[in-house]
Amino acid sequence: MQQLADSNNIMLDLETMGTGSDAAIIAIGAVRFDTSVKDSFYKVVDLQSSLDCGLSMSSDAILWWLKQEDKARQAITAEGVPLRNALLDFSKWVGEDALIWGNGATFDNVILANAYEKSAIERPWHYSANRCYRTLKSFYPNVAFEHVGVAHNALDDAQSQAIHLIKILKCMWGS
Ligand SMILES: [Mg+2]
Repeated sequence: MQQLADSNNIMLDLETMGTGSDAAIIAIGAVRFDTSVKDSFYKVVDLQSSLDCGLSMSSDAILWWLKQEDKARQAITAEGVPLRNALLDFSKWVGEDALIWGNGATFDNVILANAYEKSAIERPWHYSANRCYRTLKSFYPNVAFEHVGVAHNALDDAQSQAIHLIKILKCMWGS
């Protein structure tokens, strides 16, 4: 597990109003981890600020959110910060040489990178530091996933995914 201790691993989870690369962001959750979860980042993002930046929302996503639990919906309707502020704060928090893990090769990392580009803010990670948790977990279906907190809360999702990924990496590398 030395590989984990030697790198700046971040598990990212976005809540969005779409699934395309230009999806409007409504919450950014992330945790830093090595062999356990270390610290966390969470911002609810003002939806209008995401739209003003050129990101888009889809009717499918709106209908999907209407079907989710109250606690998950309440989290995204809390007062949000402008997207630009959230991105700048995320950059500061991420720090140097981060490996960014997202759930899907075309989801969290791509959407956040696109938001940085549309906001004309430098993305705080190198493209070669993109990591796909969804791919890795598909190779280890026997490692149980346990959700902590509220499903579709960006911070709870990021934390649950990081804990699961650590279990998978322990299986791969030995604990
Ligand atoms: Mg989520």
